[in-house]
Amino acid sequence: MDCIFCKIAKKQIPSAVLYEDKDFLAFLDIGPVNPGHTLVIPKAHYQTFLDLPKKELSNINIVSQKLAAAIMKATNAHGFNIVMNNHPAAGQEVNHVHFHIIPRFDNDNKWLRQPKTKYKDGEIDAIAAKIKSLL
Ligand code: 5GP
Ligand code: ZN
Repeated sequence: MDCIFCKIAKKQIPSAVLYEDKDFLAFLDIGPVNPGHTLVIPKAHYQTFLDLPKKELSNINIVSQKLAAAIMKATNAHGFNIVMNNHPAAGQEVNHVHFHIIPRFDNDNKWLRQPKTKYKDGEIDAIAAKIKSLL
């Protein structure tokens, strides 16, 4: 499979590695929103959040928390975003699941809030009922 993050995980492509264990790798994004922007990936190939087995799902959060604390200190950031894009419709360009950890600074103007919409009459109850029925 021709996956760039699998190649990075196998060290076939170089990256600025920040953390590694047997299941996960964290490395700097090559096109950072701000310096220190980090990607955390499982070494095994899964496409999205929904494909992660429970153990990896749990542990990727633990790894990401450790990284976020170090990134905050190293960059003197005022905040950070953890973002995951799932499927191209949501902006996923590399189809190997990854968390972005993005250090943020007061007034850095790097994040555009999405315009909010409003529910039509009855719509909020209908979508809530539909989601709940599928849990
Ligand atoms: P996505 O849009 O899929 O959520 O994010 C993919 C991210 O991977 C982008 O932010 C992009 O800059 C980063 N990226 C793509 N190719 C490479 C690469 O070869 N090396 C590194 N370090 N980051 C990459
Ligand atoms: Zn992959």
